Amino acid sequence: MKEALLFECKDEETKEVVCKLCNHYCKISNNNSGICRVRFNHDGKLFSYSYGKVDGVAIDPIEKKPFYHFKPKAKVLSFGTPGCNFKCANCQNSYLSQSIKVKPEFLLFQEVVPPENIVKLAEKYKVDGISYTYSEPTIFFEYARDVIWNCKNNDATKDLVHMFVSNGYFSKEMLEIVKTENLLDAINIDLKFFDDQKYLKITGGHLRPVLESIEKVLALGIHLEVINLVIPGENDDDESFKNIANFISKLSKDIPLHFSRFYPQYKMTEKPPTPYSTLIRAKEIATSFGLNYVYIGNTDIQNAENTYCPKCKFLVVERKRYITNVNYVIENGKAKCPKCSEILPIVV
Ligand code: SF4
Repeated sequence: MKEALLFECKDEETKEVVCKLCNHYCKISNNNSGICRVRFNHDGKLFSYSYGKVDGVAIDPIEKKPFYHFKPKAKVLSFGTPGCNFKCANCQNSYLSQSIKVKPEFLLFQEVVPPENIVKLAEKYKVDGISYTYSEPTIFFEYARDVIWNCKNNDATKDLVHMFVSNGYFSKEMLEIVKTENLLDAINIDLKFFDDQKYLKITGGHLRPVLESIEKVLALGIHLEVINLVIPGENDDDESFKNIANFISKLSKDIPLHFSRFYPQYKMTEKPPTPYSTLIRAKEIATSFGLNYVYIGNTDIQNAENTYCPKCKFLVVERKRYITNVNYVIENGKAKCPKCSEILPIVV
Protein backbone atom coordinates (compact mmCIF):
# COMPACT_ATOMS: atom_id res chain seq x y z
CA MET A 1 0.00 0.00 0.00
CA LYS A 2 1.05 3.57 -0.60
CA GLU A 3 0.26 6.76 1.27
CA ALA A 4 -2.27 8.78 -0.68
CA LEU A 5 -1.43 12.05 -2.36
CA LEU A 6 -4.51 14.16 -1.71
CA PHE A 7 -6.14 13.95 1.69
CA GLU A 8 -6.52 15.98 4.85
CA CYS A 9 -6.93 14.84 8.42
CA LYS A 10 -9.90 16.83 9.71
CA ASP A 11 -9.83 15.88 13.34
CA GLU A 12 -6.73 14.87 15.32
CA GLU A 13 -8.89 13.12 17.92
CA THR A 14 -11.22 11.05 15.74
CA LYS A 15 -8.63 10.83 12.91
CA GLU A 16 -11.31 11.42 10.29
CA VAL A 17 -9.85 12.31 6.88
CA VAL A 18 -11.23 13.83 3.70
CA CYS A 19 -9.99 12.30 0.46
CA LYS A 20 -9.53 14.98 -2.18
CA LEU A 21 -8.73 12.80 -5.14
CA CYS A 22 -12.13 12.65 -6.78
CA ASN A 23 -15.26 14.69 -6.66
CA HIS A 24 -16.90 12.47 -4.04
CA TYR A 25 -14.60 14.07 -1.43
CA CYS A 26 -15.29 11.14 0.89
CA LYS A 27 -15.14 11.78 4.61
CA ILE A 28 -13.53 8.63 5.94
CA SER A 29 -13.50 7.70 9.61
CA ASN A 30 -10.56 5.86 11.15
CA ASN A 31 -10.12 2.27 9.90
CA ASN A 32 -12.63 2.77 7.11
CA SER A 33 -12.48 3.20 3.35
CA GLY A 34 -14.00 5.59 0.81
CA ILE A 35 -16.64 4.88 -1.81
CA CYS A 36 -14.07 3.34 -4.16
CA ARG A 37 -13.13 0.87 -1.39
CA VAL A 38 -9.44 0.95 -2.24
CA ARG A 39 -8.42 3.88 0.01
CA PHE A 40 -8.23 3.29 3.73
CA ASN A 41 -7.82 5.59 6.68
CA HIS A 42 -5.27 4.35 9.22
CA ASP A 43 -4.94 6.69 12.19
CA GLY A 44 -5.55 9.85 10.19
CA LYS A 45 -3.46 8.89 7.19
CA LEU A 46 -4.99 7.74 3.93
CA PHE A 47 -3.49 4.84 2.00
CA SER A 48 -4.09 3.48 -1.48
CA TYR A 49 -4.42 -0.30 -1.35
CA SER A 50 -4.66 -0.64 -5.11
CA TYR A 51 -1.25 0.93 -5.77
CA GLY A 52 0.52 -1.20 -8.39
CA LYS A 53 -2.15 -3.93 -8.40
CA VAL A 54 -2.06 -3.92 -12.18
CA ASP A 55 -4.61 -5.88 -14.19
CA GLY A 56 -5.63 -6.35 -17.83
CA VAL A 57 -2.28 -5.42 -19.39
CA ALA A 58 -2.67 -5.32 -23.18
CA ILE A 59 -1.20 -3.70 -26.25
CA ASP A 60 -3.97 -1.99 -28.20
CA PRO A 61 -4.50 0.32 -31.12
CA ILE A 62 -5.32 3.78 -29.77
CA GLU A 63 -8.59 3.66 -31.71
CA LYS A 64 -9.83 1.00 -29.30
CA LYS A 65 -9.83 3.39 -26.29
CA PRO A 66 -11.41 5.18 -28.28
CA PHE A 67 -9.23 8.08 -29.39
CA TYR A 68 -9.88 9.00 -33.03
CA HIS A 69 -8.23 12.43 -33.21
CA PHE A 70 -5.11 11.75 -31.18
CA LYS A 71 -2.09 10.02 -32.74
CA PRO A 72 -4.06 7.84 -35.19
CA LYS A 73 -2.63 4.31 -35.53
CA ALA A 74 -0.58 4.66 -32.34
CA LYS A 75 0.15 1.52 -30.35
CA VAL A 76 -0.60 1.87 -26.64
CA LEU A 77 -0.03 -0.15 -23.51
CA SER A 78 -3.25 -0.39 -21.49
CA PHE A 79 -3.95 -1.41 -17.92
CA GLY A 80 -6.17 -0.73 -14.93
CA THR A 81 -6.24 -1.56 -11.22
CA PRO A 82 -9.12 -2.82 -9.02
CA GLY A 83 -11.86 -0.56 -7.71
CA CYS A 84 -13.84 2.42 -8.98
CA ASN A 85 -15.46 5.58 -7.64
CA PHE A 86 -18.65 4.78 -9.62
CA LYS A 87 -20.93 1.74 -9.36
CA CYS A 88 -22.39 1.68 -12.88
CA ALA A 89 -24.99 -1.06 -13.27
CA ASN A 90 -23.87 -1.46 -16.89
CA CYS A 91 -20.12 -1.69 -16.19
CA GLN A 92 -18.18 -3.55 -18.87
CA ASN A 93 -15.28 -4.24 -16.53
CA SER A 94 -17.10 -5.07 -13.31
CA TYR A 95 -14.70 -7.92 -12.51
CA LEU A 96 -12.04 -5.25 -12.06
CA SER A 97 -13.99 -2.19 -10.96
CA GLN A 98 -16.66 -3.64 -8.67
CA SER A 99 -15.69 -7.12 -7.43
CA ILE A 100 -13.13 -5.78 -5.00
CA LYS A 101 -15.81 -3.71 -3.25
CA VAL A 102 -17.32 -6.93 -1.90
CA LYS A 103 -14.02 -8.19 -0.48
CA PRO A 104 -11.47 -5.33 -0.45
CA GLU A 105 -9.11 -7.40 1.72
CA PHE A 106 -8.30 -9.43 -1.42
CA LEU A 107 -6.25 -6.43 -2.54
CA LEU A 108 -3.68 -7.29 0.11
CA PHE A 109 -2.86 -10.57 -1.62
CA GLN A 110 -2.46 -9.15 -5.10
CA GLU A 111 1.07 -8.67 -6.42
CA VAL A 112 2.44 -5.11 -6.68
CA VAL A 113 3.97 -4.24 -10.04
CA PRO A 114 6.59 -1.51 -9.54
CA PRO A 115 6.09 1.46 -11.92
CA GLU A 116 9.51 0.73 -13.47
CA ASN A 117 8.17 -2.60 -14.71
CA ILE A 118 5.42 -0.86 -16.66
CA VAL A 119 8.07 1.36 -18.21
CA LYS A 120 10.11 -1.72 -19.14
CA LEU A 121 7.04 -3.24 -20.77
CA ALA A 122 6.41 -0.05 -22.72
CA GLU A 123 10.00 -0.14 -23.90
CA LYS A 124 9.91 -3.81 -24.77
CA TYR A 125 6.77 -3.52 -26.90
CA LYS A 126 7.86 -0.20 -28.40
CA VAL A 127 4.53 1.46 -27.73
CA ASP A 128 3.76 5.09 -28.48
CA GLY A 129 1.95 5.71 -25.23
CA ILE A 130 0.20 4.37 -22.14
CA SER A 131 -3.53 4.27 -21.57
CA TYR A 132 -4.81 4.19 -17.98
CA THR A 133 -8.17 2.55 -18.40
CA TYR A 134 -10.67 -0.30 -17.69
CA SER A 135 -11.36 0.90 -14.13
CA GLU A 136 -11.29 4.59 -13.20
CA PRO A 137 -7.70 5.89 -13.43
CA THR A 138 -8.43 8.73 -10.99
CA ILE A 139 -8.53 6.27 -8.14
CA PHE A 140 -5.09 4.90 -9.01
CA PHE A 141 -3.71 8.36 -9.64
CA GLU A 142 -0.61 7.94 -7.44
CA TYR A 143 0.43 4.90 -9.43
CA ALA A 144 -0.36 6.44 -12.83
CA ARG A 145 1.66 9.50 -11.79
CA ASP A 146 4.64 7.36 -10.75
CA VAL A 147 4.50 5.46 -14.05
CA ILE A 148 4.37 8.73 -15.99
CA TRP A 149 7.34 10.20 -14.09
CA ASN A 150 9.32 7.01 -14.53
CA CYS A 151 8.65 7.24 -18.26
CA LYS A 152 9.65 10.91 -18.39
CA ASN A 153 12.91 10.16 -16.58
CA ASN A 154 13.93 7.41 -18.96
CA ASP A 155 15.51 8.32 -22.31
CA ALA A 156 13.78 5.51 -24.17
CA THR A 157 10.28 6.39 -22.91
CA LYS A 158 10.43 10.13 -22.22
CA ASP A 159 8.36 10.99 -25.29
CA LEU A 160 5.54 8.53 -24.72
CA VAL A 161 2.07 10.02 -24.51
CA HIS A 162 -0.21 9.30 -21.54
CA MET A 163 -3.96 9.15 -21.65
CA PHE A 164 -6.81 8.60 -19.22
CA VAL A 165 -10.02 6.87 -20.24
CA SER A 166 -12.18 8.23 -17.47
CA ASN A 167 -15.59 8.93 -16.00
CA GLY A 168 -14.39 12.52 -15.48
CA TYR A 169 -15.16 12.62 -11.77
CA PHE A 170 -11.99 14.56 -10.99
CA SER A 171 -11.39 16.75 -7.99
CA LYS A 172 -10.00 20.22 -8.68
CA GLU A 173 -6.93 19.26 -6.62
CA MET A 174 -6.20 16.27 -8.84
CA LEU A 175 -6.58 18.34 -12.03
CA GLU A 176 -4.24 20.93 -10.54
CA ILE A 177 -1.49 18.30 -10.25
CA VAL A 178 -2.19 17.12 -13.81
CA LYS A 179 -1.77 20.71 -14.94
CA THR A 180 1.30 21.71 -12.94
CA GLU A 181 3.17 18.48 -13.67
CA ASN A 182 1.96 18.29 -17.27
CA LEU A 183 1.04 14.65 -16.74
CA LEU A 184 -1.58 13.86 -19.37
CA ASP A 185 -1.73 14.33 -23.12
CA ALA A 186 -5.25 13.11 -23.78
CA ILE A 187 -8.41 12.29 -21.84
CA ASN A 188 -11.53 10.52 -23.03
CA ILE A 189 -14.43 11.37 -20.72
CA ASP A 190 -17.50 9.20 -20.52
CA LEU A 191 -20.51 11.53 -20.33
CA LYS A 192 -22.98 8.89 -19.27
CA PHE A 193 -26.29 10.74 -18.95
CA PHE A 194 -27.55 14.28 -19.15
CA ASP A 195 -29.83 13.81 -16.17
CA ASP A 196 -28.58 14.16 -12.61
CA GLN A 197 -31.11 11.73 -11.10
CA LYS A 198 -30.08 9.07 -13.58
CA TYR A 199 -26.41 9.74 -12.94
CA LEU A 200 -26.93 9.29 -9.24
CA LYS A 201 -29.08 6.18 -9.54
CA ILE A 202 -26.91 4.29 -12.03
CA THR A 203 -23.38 5.53 -11.26
CA GLY A 204 -23.52 7.02 -7.76
CA GLY A 205 -22.10 10.30 -9.08
CA HIS A 206 -23.57 13.60 -10.27
CA LEU A 207 -23.79 15.20 -13.70
CA ARG A 208 -22.46 18.71 -12.94
CA PRO A 209 -18.90 17.69 -11.88
CA VAL A 210 -18.50 15.65 -15.08
CA LEU A 211 -19.60 18.60 -17.22
CA GLU A 212 -17.16 20.81 -15.32
CA SER A 213 -14.34 18.32 -15.90
CA ILE A 214 -15.03 18.41 -19.65
CA GLU A 215 -14.79 22.21 -19.57
CA LYS A 216 -11.63 22.20 -17.45
CA VAL A 217 -9.81 19.58 -19.54
CA LEU A 218 -10.55 21.61 -22.64
CA ALA A 219 -9.31 24.78 -20.94
CA LEU A 220 -6.09 23.03 -19.93
CA GLY A 221 -5.37 22.28 -23.58
CA ILE A 222 -5.35 18.52 -23.02
CA HIS A 223 -6.71 16.64 -26.02
CA LEU A 224 -10.31 15.72 -25.24
CA GLU A 225 -12.78 13.23 -26.69
CA VAL A 226 -16.22 12.47 -25.24
CA ILE A 227 -18.06 9.17 -25.29
CA ASN A 228 -21.70 8.41 -24.54
CA LEU A 229 -22.83 4.81 -24.15
CA VAL A 230 -26.41 4.67 -25.43
CA ILE A 231 -28.46 2.39 -23.17
CA PRO A 232 -31.99 1.40 -24.28
CA GLY A 233 -34.60 2.91 -21.99
CA GLU A 234 -32.07 4.96 -20.02
CA ASN A 235 -30.52 7.62 -22.27
CA ASP A 236 -31.73 6.78 -25.79
CA ASP A 237 -34.29 9.59 -26.16
CA ASP A 238 -33.86 12.56 -28.47
CA GLU A 239 -33.77 14.93 -25.51
CA SER A 240 -30.67 13.25 -24.14
CA PHE A 241 -28.87 13.38 -27.50
CA LYS A 242 -29.85 17.03 -27.94
CA ASN A 243 -28.63 18.01 -24.48
CA ILE A 244 -25.27 16.30 -24.98
CA ALA A 245 -24.80 17.74 -28.46
CA ASN A 246 -25.85 21.22 -27.33
CA PHE A 247 -23.40 21.16 -24.40
CA ILE A 248 -20.45 19.89 -26.49
CA SER A 249 -21.14 22.13 -29.48
CA LYS A 250 -21.09 25.24 -27.29
CA LEU A 251 -17.59 24.33 -26.12
CA SER A 252 -16.21 23.43 -29.53
CA LYS A 253 -17.68 21.93 -32.69
CA ASP A 254 -14.43 20.02 -33.17
CA ILE A 255 -14.60 17.85 -30.05
CA PRO A 256 -14.96 14.25 -31.23
CA LEU A 257 -18.17 12.74 -29.83
CA HIS A 258 -18.54 8.96 -29.79
CA PHE A 259 -21.92 7.27 -29.41
CA SER A 260 -21.23 3.73 -28.35
CA ARG A 261 -23.46 0.68 -28.59
CA PHE A 262 -24.57 -0.92 -25.34
CA TYR A 263 -24.42 -4.69 -24.84
CA PRO A 264 -26.06 -6.38 -21.83
CA GLN A 265 -23.55 -6.43 -18.96
CA TYR A 266 -23.21 -6.84 -15.20
CA LYS A 267 -26.52 -5.74 -13.60
CA MET A 268 -28.14 -4.74 -16.89
CA THR A 269 -28.47 -8.10 -18.55
CA GLU A 270 -32.20 -7.76 -19.17
CA LYS A 271 -31.77 -4.92 -21.66
CA PRO A 272 -31.22 -5.54 -25.39
CA PRO A 273 -28.23 -4.15 -27.28
CA THR A 274 -28.81 -0.64 -28.65
CA PRO A 275 -30.61 -0.77 -32.00
CA TYR A 276 -28.56 0.61 -34.89
CA SER A 277 -31.43 2.97 -35.77
CA THR A 278 -31.09 4.67 -32.34
CA LEU A 279 -27.37 5.24 -32.81
CA ILE A 280 -27.88 6.61 -36.30
CA ARG A 281 -30.53 8.98 -34.90
CA ALA A 282 -28.12 10.08 -32.16
CA LYS A 283 -25.51 10.89 -34.78
CA GLU A 284 -28.00 12.81 -36.93
CA ILE A 285 -29.11 14.89 -33.95
CA ALA A 286 -25.54 15.65 -32.85
CA THR A 287 -24.57 16.57 -36.39
CA SER A 288 -27.57 18.92 -36.61
CA PHE A 289 -26.00 20.89 -33.74
CA GLY A 290 -22.99 21.55 -35.95
CA LEU A 291 -20.62 19.00 -34.43
CA ASN A 292 -18.04 18.11 -37.07
CA TYR A 293 -16.91 14.76 -35.75
CA VAL A 294 -19.59 12.40 -34.50
CA TYR A 295 -18.85 8.69 -34.45
CA ILE A 296 -20.72 5.48 -33.74
CA GLY A 297 -18.69 2.76 -32.04
CA ASN A 298 -19.11 -0.93 -31.22
CA THR A 299 -21.06 -1.65 -34.42
CA ASP A 300 -20.41 -2.60 -38.02
CA ILE A 301 -22.46 0.29 -39.39
CA GLN A 302 -20.70 1.30 -42.59
CA ASN A 303 -18.55 4.44 -42.47
CA ALA A 304 -19.66 5.23 -38.90
CA GLU A 305 -16.07 5.32 -37.63
CA ASN A 306 -14.60 7.32 -40.53
CA THR A 307 -13.44 10.91 -40.37
CA TYR A 308 -14.46 13.20 -43.22
CA CYS A 309 -13.10 16.66 -43.91
CA PRO A 310 -15.80 19.03 -42.62
CA LYS A 311 -15.18 21.39 -45.55
CA CYS A 312 -15.05 19.17 -48.66
CA LYS A 313 -16.18 15.79 -47.18
CA PHE A 314 -13.05 13.98 -48.34
CA LEU A 315 -12.40 10.76 -46.42
CA VAL A 316 -9.39 11.72 -44.30
CA VAL A 317 -9.28 8.74 -41.91
CA GLU A 318 -10.83 5.39 -42.68
CA ARG A 319 -11.48 3.07 -39.73
CA LYS A 320 -12.89 -0.40 -39.66
CA ARG A 321 -12.81 -2.16 -36.32
CA TYR A 322 -9.34 -0.92 -35.32
CA ILE A 323 -7.84 -1.07 -38.79
CA THR A 324 -7.04 2.52 -39.64
CA ASN A 325 -5.96 4.11 -42.90
CA VAL A 326 -4.82 7.68 -42.81
CA ASN A 327 -5.37 9.80 -45.93
CA TYR A 328 -4.54 13.25 -44.58
CA VAL A 329 -1.22 14.94 -45.24
CA ILE A 330 1.03 16.39 -42.55
CA GLU A 331 2.47 19.85 -43.05
CA ASN A 332 4.39 21.68 -40.33
CA GLY A 333 3.18 19.15 -37.79
CA LYS A 334 -0.49 19.66 -38.70
CA ALA A 335 -2.93 17.26 -40.34
CA LYS A 336 -4.45 18.68 -43.52
CA CYS A 337 -7.07 17.52 -45.96
CA PRO A 338 -5.19 16.55 -49.16
CA LYS A 339 -8.09 17.78 -51.30
CA CYS A 340 -8.95 21.23 -49.91
CA SER A 341 -6.04 21.85 -47.47
CA GLU A 342 -8.38 22.35 -44.52
CA ILE A 343 -6.43 21.99 -41.24
CA LEU A 344 -7.91 19.07 -39.31
CA PRO A 345 -8.12 18.99 -35.49
CA ILE A 346 -6.13 15.77 -35.27
CA VAL A 347 -3.02 15.48 -33.11
CA VAL A 348 -0.46 13.68 -35.27
S1 SF4 B 1 -10.91 8.47 -4.65
FE1 SF4 B 1 -12.98 9.33 -4.58
S2 SF4 B 1 -14.27 7.58 -4.01
FE2 SF4 B 1 -12.17 7.02 -3.48
S3 SF4 B 1 -11.94 7.62 -1.34
FE3 SF4 B 1 -11.21 9.32 -2.59
S4 SF4 B 1 -12.98 10.69 -2.79
FE4 SF4 B 1 -13.75 8.68 -2.12
